[in-house]
Amino acid sequence: MSPTGAEVIRKIRSEVEEVDPSEVRDHLGNGVVLVDVRESEEWDAGHIPGAKHVPRGYLESRIEGAAPGRGDRVVLYCASGQRSALAAHTLAEQLGYENVASMTGGITLWKDRGYQVETPRSLTKEQRERYSRHLLVPEIGLEGQTKLLEAKVLLLGAGGLGSPTALYLAAAGVGTLGIVDDDEVDLSNLQRQVIHTTDRIGTPKVDSAEEAIEAINPDVEVVKYRTRLDASNIMDIIPGYDVIVDGVDNFPTRYLLNDATVRLQLPVVSASILGFDGQLSVFKPYDGPCYRCLYPVPPPAELAPSCGANGVLGVLPGTMGLLQATEVIKLITGAGEPLIGRLLLYEALGATFTELKVRRDPECEICSRPPEDISDEELGVFPDYEAFCAAAG
Ligand SMILES: [Zn+2]
Repeated sequence: MSPTGAEVIRKIRSEVEEVDPSEVRDHLGNGVVLVDVRESEEWDAGHIPGAKHVPRGYLESRIEGAAPGRGDRVVLYCASGQRSALAAHTLAEQLGYENVASMTGGITLWKDRGYQVETPRSLTKEQRERYSRHLLVPEIGLEGQTKLLEAKVLLLGAGGLGSPTALYLAAAGVGTLGIVDDDEVDLSNLQRQVIHTTDRIGTPKVDSAEEAIEAINPDVEVVKYRTRLDASNIMDIIPGYDVIVDGVDNFPTRYLLNDATVRLQLPVVSASILGFDGQLSVFKPYDGPCYRCLYPVPPPAELAPSCGANGVLGVLPGTMGLLQATEVIKLITGAGEPLIGRLLLYEALGATFTELKVRRDPECEICSRPPEDISDEELGVFPDYEAFCAAAG
């Protein structure tokens, strides 16, 4: 006769090492990986500080993210100690973890003892509904959504790249979106700058973008800068933002932005487009190369988009802008591997993506030095641009 469920559980529990909450508390942070195997709603209602969340249903596929080494000391807990014992058994017997235990009594006993519990910021009923598809993704969840709501992202330009990026970051619930743009909506923009509309031709792009963002998500605060980013205002505008999204179309501003963000140690998600080609990278100061490591001198003038009106496939800035938005969300939530030290090239006609490794230049004029050594006078030093464009003919 087959054993009953209760008998199986009893047998498994007798084979698993169980530890008391007091022991777990005493060893927290001492190389012990504490894993909460409960469901997302239970985790959101309160969990042990420092614990990692791997719901039991995702145990096999996600445990290595929390505890990469088979020899790591891993302690699992749930609500009462039953699910964690079963999960500990799986880790030991099927995945080869050598030093795994289950906490007796679960978080219920932990709380009864008066030990500390961490409760993430709660969302309103409307926010839980609005972001429900994010909350279901373990890499984002309530913690990631909370980070998004608290994040401040600055978009340079509400044009081809900035339009899709702003729309999707607003939809994702990025709490503050700063937008720098001194331009007005023009009929020729509408082929690709999807945040603007025909009836807003002639209105400032920052106002048009604000209207679109507010219509999508009232959680987002829009901060408008109706100006061009230059050496006189950059240090007033960019400090305080968590991530900068670079969609500017000219090299002098790119160099200026690079130097200022290296000095302030702010990550920049940078994209550019021309014709049917797009490029994308994340410049995280001192973690990977900066823009000057990649382009110590400007590319040939004929490749400089700002040297006059250039054609571009209307959907291309959409593709590149959404890749930028994806990198922004990864940087904010800590999910995945950001595109640091890598340059992604997209060629739309051939439908190919190519990735190039890019390294920090130990001789780089800017990022080879400590941030406090970079002076105001050095920000954005660049050859005379008009002469540079004229040379292109
Ligand atoms: Zn550099």
